[in-house]
Amino acid sequence: MKNLKYLISLIIGHLTVFKHIFKKPVTLEYPEKKIELNDKFRGEHAFDVEKCTACGTCQRVCPSFGTIEIEKEKDENGKFYPKNYSIDLNKCIFCGNCVQYCPFGAIKMTQNYELADEKKSTLKLEINTLKRNYFDNIIDK
Ligand code: SF4
Ligand code: SF4
Repeated sequence: MKNLKYLISLIIGHLTVFKHIFKKPVTLEYPEKKIELNDKFRGEHAFDVEKCTACGTCQRVCPSFGTIEIEKEKDENGKFYPKNYSIDLNKCIFCGNCVQYCPFGAIKMTQNYELADEKKSTLKLEINTLKRNYFDNIIDK
């Protein structure tokens, strides 16, 4: 009786495998093949320094304390601008609040999700990296 149960399970298992031979695979051979991402995908950030007024809204709406750092300064016309700006991806939860609430559309999120690195320090995106991301991923598209 026990052996019969094993035999039935074995047959069911084989039938399941056989059924899937003719189906399209649900996985991809990453990294050779990559999925097409949704337009709203939230990946690495990009920053348009020209639009930023260093108002600090992004910092205030960020739920992960200490992720965004802004050093502001006044220009010759008395207007604030970000002398330094960084986003620490070690702390970021990719919620998109900074993008959504920036009153000037200065922050965007790119489709770059391949962010793994050996050093934690590389994951802190400094102003120049963020600016480059903007030119490479937002303006060029
Ligand atoms: S990125 Fe936007 S919300 Fe953040 S400081 Fe600059 S203007 Fe303000
Ligand atoms: S995506 Fe969310 S967690 Fe990351 S920096 Fe923006 S507001 Fe903060």
